[in-house]
Amino acid sequence: MSLSNGRQYLAVPGPSVLPDRVLQAMTRPSPNIFEGELVDTFPEILQGLRSVARTTGDVAVYIGNGHAGWEAALANVFSRGDRVLLLATGSFGHGWGEMAQALGIEVETLDFGRRAGVDGPRLREVLAADKAHRIRGVLAVQVDTSTSIKIDVAALRTALDDTGHPALLLVDAIACLGVDPLEMDAWGVDVTVSASQKGLMTPPGLAFVFFNSRASRARERANCVTGYWDWKPRVAPDVFYQHFCGTPPAHHLFGLREALSMIAEEGLEAVWARHACLARAVWAACDAWGAGGSMALNVAEPALRSHATTTVHLGPPDGTRLRNWARDKAGLTLGLGLGMGTAEDPRADGTFRIGHMGHVNAHMIMGALGAIEAGLKGCGIAHGSGALEAAADVIAGGAG
Ligand SMILES: *Cc1c(COP(=O)(O)O)cnc(C)c1O
Repeated sequence: MSLSNGRQYLAVPGPSVLPDRVLQAMTRPSPNIFEGELVDTFPEILQGLRSVARTTGDVAVYIGNGHAGWEAALANVFSRGDRVLLLATGSFGHGWGEMAQALGIEVETLDFGRRAGVDGPRLREVLAADKAHRIRGVLAVQVDTSTSIKIDVAALRTALDDTGHPALLLVDAIACLGVDPLEMDAWGVDVTVSASQKGLMTPPGLAFVFFNSRASRARERANCVTGYWDWKPRVAPDVFYQHFCGTPPAHHLFGLREALSMIAEEGLEAVWARHACLARAVWAACDAWGAGGSMALNVAEPALRSHATTTVHLGPPDGTRLRNWARDKAGLTLGLGLGMGTAEDPRADGTFRIGHMGHVNAHMIMGALGAIEAGLKGCGIAHGSGALEAAADVIAGGAG
């Protein structure tokens, strides 16, 4: 028997759950795109985005997904033949590096594997050795959605400053903007890339590139940039359509405005705190299950774990069996082990991910964990007891 009818829960690390308020804000006729509400409201949307990224810099908005944001960021500050240093903590970092290579940028990669953050001493060594300052940019992914590793972004700026290195700092915050704290200006990030469909609770289709005055200066010498990706007219247009180099994504913008209002109403710090508590509940449940079976979190050190998503190992084929059970029997879609394949488990059937970003609350997380508990039983997968009690304790403690 299937018990999956009822409201479906897409608990994957993006796209995330869409709030009814966002959907309702999008359900409307096409507006005038030359004057009126859309044009009048756009500055407010930009201001909302800046406050979520904690920056007073500029933000260019593209019709595109996260990959579009990656390319836009690179194209505006680098030239063919420039060298960048990529700090990889999972498969998304490598993906960004491949896009840089395709633009003709030379990529030097420091790969920290799938279970660790950035090795600070190793980074300093590489920066200090680059006496000629050939490295023009450091690319880092704040939360790598495959591994669920969160890196210390402020420490990257400190490493650059301590070694007197002038490279730009570019950060992918696609998974975690509006989830894990990011202080773009205070942490000295020059370019931040994000997208609409994760912490920002809006359908996929909008990419955001935030940049400061150092990055603006780099734009003046960049030769990778093309007319469509150029952020200059997008942030300082003569006429409104130049914000988007064409027709604006009107419905997405109305949805995004609503999502940003929801974040502002709750308060960004309260949003961060909610995600932190819900993530701790997920980890507590996984630890309890793991105590009586093979389940284990991918990231051992809590400080290195994202509050947006959690990567869990169960051993093949049980990750896939559990995911299928949850989807077919309980209406819960868990994330697959994207980018986590190994020689022994090439399709990552032993790994799954729980997305807990955006429009999620205590009962949704308790429901997802309850469905996983039922799935472990239904699939006959060995697991420890007390997981739901452990999660409830965290939530009760967090709720105060
Ligand atoms: C989702 C994600 C991307 C890619 O975004 P798309 O919208 O799928 O192009 C890149 N980086 C991170 C960290 C992500 O989580």
